[in-house]
Amino acid sequence: MIAAYVGLGANLGDLRHTLETALADLADVTSVQLERVSSAWRSAPVDSDGPDYLNAVARVRTDLPPLTLLAALQAIESRHGRERPYRNAPRTLDLDLLLYGDQTVDLDRLSVPHPRLHQRAFVLRPLLELDPALSAPGLGLLADFLSATADQVLQRETLPLRPPHAGL
Ligand code: ADP
Ligand code: MG
Repeated sequence: MIAAYVGLGANLGDLRHTLETALADLADVTSVQLERVSSAWRSAPVDSDGPDYLNAVARVRTDLPPLTLLAALQAIESRHGRERPYRNAPRTLDLDLLLYGDQTVDLDRLSVPHPRLHQRAFVLRPLLELDPALSAPGLGLLADFLSATADQVLQRETLPLRPPHAGL
């Protein structure tokens, strides 16, 4: 079993409901166990437009290969009505494979670690919430990148995400 981290983001619709049902969907994927979920973090869009985002990170254990896990994430996005009218368009739901154990994947369809992971506070803060000592292949300790993202305004929500029937 591999420990993988999945980033969740939404900025259209009922954000909290979308993240909670997406987490339940993730827990329902065969061979994926949802282990832990970060707090929900609210942020203004980066390189994008539209309303604020709500973001979170989930740690899963899985024996699915990385491309199969990505396909499962994309199936969940589609079920939530994700459309891609243009790059960085507002989205009902974005699911990114951030880390897959200590493995590196370098394909057109999949880059792991996620290429922008260390530049985005809305990814770093929830990742470090789940594991303050987390490191990523090619990057090292993720905590070392926090200070460079200190200008990104981010608010942690005190109300935890509660995925229905996810067994957390
Ligand atoms: P982004 O998440 O970068 O804002 P999208 O969600 O629209 O953009 O993803 C665009 C493409 O990125 C997807 O078709 C997918 O194949 C590819 N991709 C590459 N690496 C990853 C990854 N680590 N996680 C998710 N998608 C990825
Ligand atoms: Mg994505």
